[in-house]
Amino acid sequence: MAIHTLIIGGGVVGVSAAYFLARRGAPVTLLDPTDLTDSASTGNAGLIAIDHGPLPRPGLARQAAKWILDPGNPLYIPLRPSLARLRWFMAFHRACRPAHHDHCFRALNAHGHAAGACFASLVADEALDCEYHATGQYDVFMTEPGLEQGVEEVRRIRDAGYGAEVLDGAELRRREPAYRDEVVGAILFTDRAFANPGAFLSELAERARSHGAQIRTGIAARELIVDRDRCAGAITTDGERLEAEHVVLAAGAWSSTLAARAGIRLPMEAGKGYHLTVSSPDPPLTTAAVLAETFVAMNPLRDGLRLAGTLEFSGINHRLVRKRLDMLLRGARRYVRGMNDVTVHAEWCGLRPCTSDGLPMLGWAPRVRKCFLATGHAMMGFALGPLAGRIASECILDGEPSVPIDAFTPTRFQKK
Ligand SMILES: Cc1cc2nc3c(=O)[nH]c(=O)nc-3n(C[C@H](O)[C@H](O)[C@H](O)COP(=O)(O)OP(=O)(O)OC[C@H]3O[C@@H](n4cnc5c(N)ncnc54)[C@H](O)[C@@H]3O)c2cc1C
Repeated sequence: MAIHTLIIGGGVVGVSAAYFLARRGAPVTLLDPTDLTDSASTGNAGLIAIDHGPLPRPGLARQAAKWILDPGNPLYIPLRPSLARLRWFMAFHRACRPAHHDHCFRALNAHGHAAGACFASLVADEALDCEYHATGQYDVFMTEPGLEQGVEEVRRIRDAGYGAEVLDGAELRRREPAYRDEVVGAILFTDRAFANPGAFLSELAERARSHGAQIRTGIAARELIVDRDRCAGAITTDGERLEAEHVVLAAGAWSSTLAARAGIRLPMEAGKGYHLTVSSPDPPLTTAAVLAETFVAMNPLRDGLRLAGTLEFSGINHRLVRKRLDMLLRGARRYVRGMNDVTVHAEWCGLRPCTSDGLPMLGWAPRVRKCFLATGHAMMGFALGPLAGRIASECILDGEPSVPIDAFTPTRFQKK
């Protein structure tokens, strides 16, 4: 008998889809080659920055041109990109135009309110033990021009209905004594939150199972089954044929390859990021932050301080580049006291699924019916992932989503 819904990928998007479908009584099976403890969804910085902007932005292309070939910079693109990657970069470059950037901001900001509410109610409804703090999050500045630019951003954030408070260095240090005297100020984004992403995912997977979802780990989908114009399931890497009425493709950076084999164009690149977990500095930090000039995110977790960031477009691989890992600690030391005495507990890298136009891909696949695409959340997948999963469940069970997703339609990449 065919499965009702087959979900490919057990990151935050796939597990959320499994949870919301199972909670409403739909039989669901999820496949993932890992044990769900090592993906972008578990190793990310854990920031729930629901008012965050898109990855492509005006000026980034120029800045990137200076940065790209040096692995010691926040953005790194090694030489010898493939033809597909070159095409992706050209589209990304076009997406850095101000008009497109404004369009993305509007679409993401409108979506962010629902994403934040979805995250918060999930944590509360299921009593998820995941170090969730709805206490806001800082952007911290080392330079006056940086702070001025941040303050500009505050206007846009407030216009979109989010809260932000501008603090000078002294006020920041009164609240967070760990910051050095050189830090000139900060913005507290009051509607943001932070959590432990690994704990969130394992708790949510456990709740999905308890609602009846079948989560099969250690097994991947090798290819989608396409019967004329309809997606009818997947064949696993063990050769098992899993027929399904609906398929949700949520395989993160790996989604494009699976989609391409089924004739679905889904232009994405893997944006590699790194994290280090270090012992808590003295004095400790209490609130997650992004160190604005170095792009390092910090999250004070129970078992240490997570430093995360950097963006590397070198294809799908998990090679750790030492210079990039070192940047995280070096970046944090400039802002935070006590970082010279910390010990490193863990080093990690993972892949963000990045579309060329800076918007997620959320909706029914073009050309192949019954295949729902839920991916491409780039830097925002932890924050937006639970809502993406809920939307997948609504499109499957109700025929339409409860929040608009027109801006994220996967048909935007089809050749006319
Ligand atoms: C360093 C770093 C920091 C980040 N910080 C933040 C942050 O602070 N806030 C935020 O919102 N976002 C952040 N992100 C982004 C966020 O982590 C991602 O956008 C999000 O996790 C993507 O979730 P996903 O479920 O789409 O994909 P993934 O987490 O990549 O999950 C995809 C899953 O699919 C599985 N899979 C692959 N191939 C197959 C197959 N053939 N069959 C079955 N399964 C398959 C994989 O094993 C994987 O488990 C960060 C990312 C990185 C790398």
